Amino acid sequence: MNVKTFVIRSEAPSAALALVKLSLEKYQRELNAAQLEAVTTTQGPVLVVAGAGTGKTKTLTYRAAYLVAMGVPASEILLLTFTRRAAQEMLRRAATVGDARAADIAGGTFHAYANRVLRQHGAALGLGPNFTVLDQADAEDTIDYCRTALGLHDKGTRFPRKFVLNDMISAAANKQQSIEEVVLQGYPHFEHCLEDIGKLAKFYSHYKQTNNLLDYDDLLTQLQRLLLEHPAIHRRIAGGWRYVMVDEYQDTNLVQAELTKLLSSVHGNVMAVGDDAQSIYAFRGANYRNILDFPQAYPGCKIIKLEENYRSTQRILDVTNFIINQAQEKFSKHLYTRREPAGEFPALVTAPDENMQSAFVAQRILELREEGVPLHEIAVLMRNGRNSFDLEIELQRRKIPFVKYGGQKLVEAAHIRDFLSYLKVLHNPKDLVSWNRILLLLEGVGPRTARGVTDWIKDAEEPYSLERATASRKYVLALRELGELLGRLARPEISLSNITEAVLAYYLPLLRRHYFEDHPRREADLENFLTIISSSDSVESLLSELALDPVDQAATYERLENDEKPLVLSTIHSAKGLEWHAVFLINALDGIIPSSYALGNSTELDEELRLLYVALTRAQNLLYMCYPSLASRRGYDYYLTNPSRFLKELPGEIYERLLLVEEPAVNLALNEPA
Ligand code: ATP
Ligand code: MG
Repeated sequence: MNVKTFVIRSEAPSAALALVKLSLEKYQRELNAAQLEAVTTTQGPVLVVAGAGTGKTKTLTYRAAYLVAMGVPASEILLLTFTRRAAQEMLRRAATVGDARAADIAGGTFHAYANRVLRQHGAALGLGPNFTVLDQADAEDTIDYCRTALGLHDKGTRFPRKFVLNDMISAAANKQQSIEEVVLQGYPHFEHCLEDIGKLAKFYSHYKQTNNLLDYDDLLTQLQRLLLEHPAIHRRIAGGWRYVMVDEYQDTNLVQAELTKLLSSVHGNVMAVGDDAQSIYAFRGANYRNILDFPQAYPGCKIIKLEENYRSTQRILDVTNFIINQAQEKFSKHLYTRREPAGEFPALVTAPDENMQSAFVAQRILELREEGVPLHEIAVLMRNGRNSFDLEIELQRRKIPFVKYGGQKLVEAAHIRDFLSYLKVLHNPKDLVSWNRILLLLEGVGPRTARGVTDWIKDAEEPYSLERATASRKYVLALRELGELLGRLARPEISLSNITEAVLAYYLPLLRRHYFEDHPRREADLENFLTIISSSDSVESLLSELALDPVDQAATYERLENDEKPLVLSTIHSAKGLEWHAVFLINALDGIIPSSYALGNSTELDEELRLLYVALTRAQNLLYMCYPSLASRRGYDYYLTNPSRFLKELPGEIYERLLLVEEPAVNLALNEPA
């Protein structure tokens, strides 16, 4: 039989081409030549490596819009970014640049993407589709649980604590090293317990496997395994992504770099953008060398450099260029702008103490607002979430609304974790760590009793029939009540809102008893949390959403009547990629930035310097680098401070100093002798 093929030409390409012709003008108008080249080079690997504010993210956004306008279905484009927020923002913009269909592009973090793929294809790895994602605190609790199970809990202070153990295990996964190597290189003072740490790491891994649990690192390494060990699945998945784009590539770790390669390996169209001078996640295994090695990993890669900065005034760039030049490892970037005029000098603000620093920041923010700068175009940045507590009090006092990004997450608070534990055991009745947590909330139940019950649950066919777990009459009523509640809620027809309502009714009295000192604040928090999660549709999607994109600390601000968008407080890590009209960096002290932990190590000092660079390059027009010259430890014990060593060498002609003086009290005259 003679078989011929007949190709039906779709009309779409020519229609799309006409569209491109029409709209290319817009791209030419809004992008510079190098950016335009990056946007319109659609075939093969492309690397855009460029300094802060040169339009890397803008280029990716326009490229997404351009591809869709060219007729590429949105479902064949994958955009990987550092936060979900960043992806949403980019896709929203892409949709307004070109075509509304750009909003349908798959965008998000590597972790969220891995979560999606593993739920679909995890069976190939022996993974159930309803696995639980452990966030950092969950992982630490699980490690603690494993440690007790192995009898390693009575080793005292000579054994690393749970968060250190988690860091070790995570470093091994991220750097693709053995746990022994990690301990010997990074934690030599724990060499004496190398064997026990190795045993624990193995047990933890086994425990996760048998209980269908994945921590953050597993999401990435399991996806990597899936793609490497199952060629058919790999071909299908990578075959579906005609275009892969990654923002902030300098903060990818080895596994993420490998995933980028695997996902783009069928079509070979991959674009990575980033800035080696802004790499700030080494502590999570990120390696800025990934971006420098990109051309080797992708032969034929086109490299595009962007040099013109569109964000900041020249005076701000003079300072940030000077800052990054102090790095041991040289970054050969010198940013310039054609913006006129040169703008105000960045200010180095020395406050007598932290209260005065807060007063200055708050007062200056109010003045800016008077001058017409909206609050949400102003940001206060800090090295650690806890560095802004004093300022937060001042902002509340002056009724300046603010949101805070980074720092402690709402889901890390004890009462929220309690609440979520009920949902977790509903989702996975063998989640012993969550069981342990809710059992300990019962009156009179201590670790040993809880342990007995969880031992029973481990093998029980009906784990909600809790009253069978113990012979002791003392707890049987409480256990039965808890078991009955969970048994009732575990039925598939019960909606998430009915579940949360019932759990709340059950948990509130326990919360009031357990946290009697400050339960009203926690109740308010919990209510706020319930509003935030009310849009989720099932326990499973709620739990993975929360683990993958933890809700930031509740905004502790009062809403203004006109619904003004609030001021932004943020850790530097969470400010990555963003920009504001005015930026205040607070507590720019030696020991804070650079962190005291980094002082003895030139690689870590460089990372701190890059962190400072990221902070200062967020500013568009006004930059204030503030520090108190007197600080206190826990509210007493005052000591003299040093400003950040990175700011000390700034040449006098590129910044101005601001010294704060208090206005003399108005009624001074009253104190004069008569
Ligand atoms: P970062 O390194 O901080 O992530 P980036 O390189 O991603 O910075 P963008 O955030 O994309 O930079 O752009 C910085 C600012 O410059 C944005 O406000 C953007 O709109 C503006 N911008 C970028 N390119 C141009 C251009 N060609 N013309 C005008 N404005 C531009
Ligand atoms: Mg960017």
